[in-house]
Amino acid sequence: MFRLILLGPPGAGKGTLASTLSVKFNAPHISTGSVFRRNIKEGTRLGMRVKKYMDKGELVPDEIVINIVTDRLDEDDCATGFLLDGFPRTVHQAEELDKYLESRGLAIDRVIDLVADEELLMQRMINRRVCKSCGRIYHVITMPPKQEGICDVCGGEIYQRADDTEETVRNRFAVYQSQTAPLIEYYRKAGNLLAIDGSGTPDETLELVVEALGV
Ligand code: ADP
Ligand code: ZN
Repeated sequence: MFRLILLGPPGAGKGTLASTLSVKFNAPHISTGSVFRRNIKEGTRLGMRVKKYMDKGELVPDEIVINIVTDRLDEDDCATGFLLDGFPRTVHQAEELDKYLESRGLAIDRVIDLVADEELLMQRMINRRVCKSCGRIYHVITMPPKQEGICDVCGGEIYQRADDTEETVRNRFAVYQSQTAPLIEYYRKAGNLLAIDGSGTPDETLELVVEALGV
């Protein structure tokens, strides 16, 4: 069983990879972005607080994110392993996560850094569509649903994320470069970083990850 972090720029395929690994390892997939989107959809207080940051492609303040993740990690299903997708995203979040784990005698096993060229990522995101109900990810050209607008898996409605427009995507890249990319060095120093080519198909990426993890 693994405690994994999926790192990488927006559109690198963290969500797609995490969904597959979650089934493979029978470990919970914790996506901070999905938690926020669900709260926005349901109109909760949290949703109302985070919407303005997400719509602009800015990061949600650390103290909000850290509490959500540590509360989630306290749940029973995380006891033997978990997949963190989209967290940590700042050095401060990583330090707080380490403190939380250390206080319980735990540690992150591996950090998977998905690497891909920015133009490719840009195209992926502009063409990305997501199922409103189950979160399954589609691509209008390379991975369309069988029936337009309807999820293959659950029949839910497929939509485009509000932050997948060209302007917001550009800003998310800039935010990634300045605030999240330093984590690559952080985890390289910790000695558990695996750099994986994320430019191929989801199956190709999965194969590289499985090989690198040795599972
Ligand atoms: P992507 O990796 O494609 O950018 P996510 O779904 O992971 O998409 O994140 C979408 C948005 O949610 C981010 O742009 C940010 O506003 C917010 N968010 C998600 N995770 C975090 C986090 N760990 N810290 C701060 N903001 C976050
Ligand atoms: Zn679905």
